[in-house]
Amino acid sequence: MSQHIAEIISVGTELLLGNVANTDARDISAMMSQLGLNVYYHTVVGDNDERLEAAVNIAKSRADVIITTGGLGPTYDDMTKQTLCRCFGRELKYDEAAAQEIRNYFARRFHNHNMSENNLLQAYLPEGCTVFHNTCGTAPGCAFEEGGVHVLMLPGPPRECEAMFRLSAMPYLRRLSEGGIWSHNVRIFGIGESNMENILHDYMVSLTNPSLAPYAKEGECLCRVTAKAGTEAEAEEMMAPVIGRVREMIRDFIYGLDVESIEERCLQLLKDAGMTFSCAESCTGGLIAKRITDIPGASAVFKGGAVTYTNEAKIGILGVDAGIIKEHFAVSRQTAAAMAEGARRVFSSDLAVSTTGIAGPDTDESGKPVGTVFVALSSPEGTWVRSLDLGTDRPRVRTVAAHHAFDMIRRYLTGLPVEL
Ligand code: ATP
Repeated sequence: MSQHIAEIISVGTELLLGNVANTDARDISAMMSQLGLNVYYHTVVGDNDERLEAAVNIAKSRADVIITTGGLGPTYDDMTKQTLCRCFGRELKYDEAAAQEIRNYFARRFHNHNMSENNLLQAYLPEGCTVFHNTCGTAPGCAFEEGGVHVLMLPGPPRECEAMFRLSAMPYLRRLSEGGIWSHNVRIFGIGESNMENILHDYMVSLTNPSLAPYAKEGECLCRVTAKAGTEAEAEEMMAPVIGRVREMIRDFIYGLDVESIEERCLQLLKDAGMTFSCAESCTGGLIAKRITDIPGASAVFKGGAVTYTNEAKIGILGVDAGIIKEHFAVSRQTAAAMAEGARRVFSSDLAVSTTGIAGPDTDESGKPVGTVFVALSSPEGTWVRSLDLGTDRPRVRTVAAHHAFDMIRRYLTGLPVEL
């Protein structure tokens, strides 16, 4: 198994100033993990010769693959090649083939306009390097090995950087790695991140390869199982028992493996069951309908939705009994149930979900606290209501309320208790 350690050094003052996000390092890291190469460090350094030299010397002491991005252009502040050559005792040499490519690029793109002699500075490359052609710009990249350290230099503009990484750096690096990294995402809803961590902690720390990592996503959690192996089949074999153990520990809160979202899972389940649903939304304001219709093929299972924000709309469109709202208020278990039942009737769907709640920042006439939400599911077997306290952050209240609606459908269709 490869034991290489890689460091990415992103060069650019604009990155330090916060003008530009370091997407090159992110993208390269993602591609490195596909190659099975470990990236241990990301460093960002401004367009400053001394500080870049210091960063390279640190990188040399702890990594044996150094990938730089940026600073390959023709201007005075583009000094990556010079600095790296100095650090590794290499000469910069004029490369006629690279110069010709730059001339051709200008001839092709600009009919030779805009080509200044400065641009040919980019044709100076470390002696004996492997040249990486730039398919979307002028600055060539390069790679060399010196004293057991592999140095790769890529341009800063993301399009150029990514294309060069894929087309040139990946084949160069592939011979350093054996195998790759594969992972699966276990998607979880209904328990908090800290709760999930508590459950998994001891098992998680006992693992190295495969590894288990928990992540919090908006109102839900995900647990990533990652294996490093020679082949994909080997990785799958290593991950299967770990996924099995996670399933045993988290059980009904797992809504899917490698699915995009809980609504996608609902779509699959509804299709499999040959059932349809509809929704009546108050505090989620159409979010449930939006999320399901974002997925191609939703028409097979989704009949329609109504955003019934006012009492009049709840009564007039869904047929909610005015007496229920009068007695229990709009944000109540009873109103949520009547809304879901009304939607099921109006849309002639097999199932219907509803939401009614106080997303904030102000409360309503009932005086219930902000974050009080009722989510209901109406089915041929009856109606269930979840009574929730979702906090005071308005966007989060709405998102999590919609998660709950989908979770109720999911639980109903998988034979689990619908109420939490
Ligand atoms: P050029 O020939 O365009 O000068 P270069 O290799 O010298 O290429 P830089 O001058 O360092 O690259 O950066 C050019 C632009 O690319 C920056 O202004 C920035 O918008 C973008 N860029 C640079 N580095 C990164 C990075 N790490 N992540 C995302 N964008 C970046």
